[in-house]
Amino acid sequence: MLVMKFGGTSVGSAEAIRGVKQIVAQAREKHAPVVVVVSAMSTITETLLAAARSSVSGDSKTAAEKLTHLEKKHLDTVDALFAGPRKDAARKIVQEITGEFRRICSGMEMLGEMPLRAMDAGLSVGERLSAHLVALFLEQEGIAADAVDTGKCVVTDDNFGSARLLMEPTREATRALILPITKAGRVPVVTGFLGATRDGIRTTLGRGGSDYSGAILAAALDADELWIWTDVDGVLSADPKAVSSARILDEITYEEASELSHFGAKVLHHKTLAPLASRMIPVWIKNTFAPEKPGTRIGPPHPGIPLGPKAVTSLAPVTMFTLRSNGTPGTTELFARTFTALHHASIEILMVTQSSYQDNFCLLVPQDASEAALATLETAFRLELNHGYVDPITRQDVAAIALIGEGMRGTPGIASQMFGALAQQKINIIAIAQGSSETNISLTVATADRAAAIKAIHDGCIAPYQKA
Ligand code: ASP
Ligand code: MG
Repeated sequence: MLVMKFGGTSVGSAEAIRGVKQIVAQAREKHAPVVVVVSAMSTITETLLAAARSSVSGDSKTAAEKLTHLEKKHLDTVDALFAGPRKDAARKIVQEITGEFRRICSGMEMLGEMPLRAMDAGLSVGERLSAHLVALFLEQEGIAADAVDTGKCVVTDDNFGSARLLMEPTREATRALILPITKAGRVPVVTGFLGATRDGIRTTLGRGGSDYSGAILAAALDADELWIWTDVDGVLSADPKAVSSARILDEITYEEASELSHFGAKVLHHKTLAPLASRMIPVWIKNTFAPEKPGTRIGPPHPGIPLGPKAVTSLAPVTMFTLRSNGTPGTTELFARTFTALHHASIEILMVTQSSYQDNFCLLVPQDASEAALATLETAFRLELNHGYVDPITRQDVAAIALIGEGMRGTPGIASQMFGALAQQKINIIAIAQGSSETNISLTVATADRAAAIKAIHDGCIAPYQKA
């Protein structure tokens, strides 16, 4: 069995949906059965959010514009794809589902608030629409297909907006729902992004969560492979805007892909790999607009995969805090209280670095959490700050850069190559993180040096391996 997930741009227009049909038809010849998972059409989830926000704030003009865009984009696609009675059926589905969203918006306008639970119900509209359109189009083109709402089989907790998966009930419900469809020789066209609680209340898996849905489906159905169709040729060795010689990686490991997705690469939703890695189901990243290209394979490590640095990636802008104690509290206490305080404030720590001078350390948080982090730390150390035991907390916006590749630790000289490459370009390193993972060496530089640093490291550390 093959699970294929199509992202927003891959179903983003009538043309793109024709391409999907082409890909599904070919895949079925080689890999039947095929399960299709779809995102909302591109820009639609944003449109739904914007419509809801404007409704709540009483900006009915913007809300109306967004609702018109929502309906028009889908109806135009219907008109371009369908003919005859199928067109009427498709138009009716679009009107029904968008009508549901209109009512949710009116409700929010009346309440003057956006309850998370209602928001998830509203956002579900995007994926439900695209699943219906793709399924109907496959049918029209002679491929028997059924739209499937994962609200009926992906079971989650009630953390609306970013719900957590409950794998056991999901596996059972997914198999019960999907396998009869594939056994009948039909193609299930499944909504990405959506789930429901045990009580059937609609949830979503977090922005970009359709990749994760693809992985959940693949794991629950014991698929042989997951193919993620997107609008790039695969996973790149660097941001092509910074490095013109960046190239597509043929094959990387789960571990490398997971470091990449945590460290700013936008290829995959960060939860995607966990359900696959434990079952050794490989993932391919492929380009719907160039399906003949091989793409990138992500799978378990094996002797054929080259070791060494493979990709350089960055997180920017992020904020670096420096904390320095003058002896009291000691290092352990300084760390402990910092982490506890940030944890209680739900602030994510991206990276920690400690200088050889033990009572001083730096930590990195997302820039949008910078204010909250400062307030939290100043509260936590108020007494010590007032009495000068802890120096005033400093912060600076920086870019974090990571060099990623399995087996780097076993290869002498890579860190020095990395620092040497930066030194040659006269780029100052602000802090170095001693990664506990073998697959990641990271450091921070000034935000303005980001692109130059990526290029220097790519040219100095990765290009030689690419040639090898
Ligand atoms: N449509 C959802 C989003 O834009 C899920 C996805 O596309 O992966 O976040
Ligand atoms: Mg996506």
